[in-house]
Amino acid sequence: MINDLFINMLLLISFTFVGGHISREMPEKLKGKYFGKIILGIAGGVLGILMMVYAIQVIGTNTLLDLRSLAILMISSVGSFESTFITGLIIAIYRIGYYGVSQSSIFALAHICLYLIFFSIINRKIKTPWKNWFAKLAITVLILVTTFVYLLHDVENEYLIILNFSIVVICAGTLEYFLLKYAERSNQLYKIYKKDSTKDFLTGLNNTRQFDKLLNMSYERVIENDEKLSCLMVDIDHFKRVNDTYGHAIGDVVLKELAEILEKNSRVFDFVGRVGGEEFCILLLDCPSDRAFEIGTRIKNYVKEHRFPIGQNKYINITVSIGVATYPETVANIEELVEKADVGLYKAKRTGRDRVCDNLNCIE
Ligand code: GH3
Ligand code: MG
Ligand code: MG
Repeated sequence: MINDLFINMLLLISFTFVGGHISREMPEKLKGKYFGKIILGIAGGVLGILMMVYAIQVIGTNTLLDLRSLAILMISSVGSFESTFITGLIIAIYRIGYYGVSQSSIFALAHICLYLIFFSIINRKIKTPWKNWFAKLAITVLILVTTFVYLLHDVENEYLIILNFSIVVICAGTLEYFLLKYAERSNQLYKIYKKDSTKDFLTGLNNTRQFDKLLNMSYERVIENDEKLSCLMVDIDHFKRVNDTYGHAIGDVVLKELAEILEKNSRVFDFVGRVGGEEFCILLLDCPSDRAFEIGTRIKNYVKEHRFPIGQNKYINITVSIGVATYPETVANIEELVEKADVGLYKAKRTGRDRVCDNLNCIE
C-alpha cells in the first residue's frame, strides 16, 4: 500500500515545495486578494486530480484510495475558506465527472462537504498551528475510516486495507505538517535576508548597495526616455556635536527622524537612500534643476523648523546642507551625477552650511 501511494506522496511533497517557492516570490498584496486565493484553490484542485489519477482502485468496487483529503487539509491550513472551497469543488467535479455517479462518488462528495465544515470550525476554534493540523488530520482519518468500513464491507481483507490506508494517511499527513513548517520558516528567513540586503538597518531607507542599483536603473531609464534626473545629497550640519553632547543613541534617534522627513518630503516615486553615516541621497526622477532646488529648499527649511524629540519633552534643532546636481542641465555625464551633487554639498558646507547649492548657485 505504501508503494502504491508513493506517487501520491511525491505529488504532495512536490506541490508543497513548488508552492512554497511561488508564495515566497508572490507580492504580499496579491496574497490576500481574490486572485491569490483563486490560484491557491486551483493549485489544490489540480493536486487532488493528479492524486486521483494515481489512486488505487479497490478491486471489485468504485472506491479510490488516494491522498486527496490531504490536499484539502493543506489548502485549508495555508489558505482561506474560499481557496479550500475551490479545491474541494474542483476535486468533486472531477471525481463525479470522470468516474461517474456511484455510491462511492456520492460519499466522496459528502467527504468534501464534511471537510469544509469541520476544517473551518477547527480553524476558528484551534489557533495553535500543530494542534490545528493534527485535529484536522484526526477528523480526516475518522471520516475516511467510517466511510470505508461501510463501503468495503464485502471486500476481502477490508480491515487490513483500511488499517494500511489509515497508516499511510497519518504518516503522509505528519510528514506534510513538517514540510509546511519548513517551507514557512525558510520563507520567513528569505524575507528577512532579502530586506536586510536592501534596507539600512537603522532608518529602513535603501542602503548603499540598493541605492547603487536604483541609481544604475535610473540612468538607463533617463537615457532611454530622454528625461532629466536630479540628485540631492543631504548631510547634517555639525552632527558630531549632537553625538558629543547627547550621545550616540540620541544621534541615532535624530537620524531615524530625519530619514522619515526625507521620505515624507520627496515624491512617492523618488528614491531615498542612506549613503553614509549622516549622509543621505535622494534621486528625483524626471526632475529639472529648478524643481530640484525647490524640493531641496523645502526639505532644508522643514528640517530647520522641525523640533527633533530626544527624550521626554526634550527637543533639539538641527540644520542640513544639500548639494544638487541635474542631468543634463548641470552635469553632462550622467555617471558623474552623485559626484557633482557632492561638489554642491561641499560648496554648501564651505559657504556657511544650512543651504542648498549646485556647482554654480546657492539658496539660503
Ligand atoms: P559637517 O557639518 O561638516 O558635516 O560636520 P559633521 O560633524 O556633521 O561631520 P563629520 O563628518 O565631522 O561627522 C559626522 C559624524 O556623524 C561623526 C559620526 O560620529 C557621526 N555618525 C556617523 N554615523 C553615525 C550613526 O550611525 N549614528 C550616529 N549616532 N552617529 C553617526
Ligand atoms: Mg555632517
Ligand atoms: Mg558627513
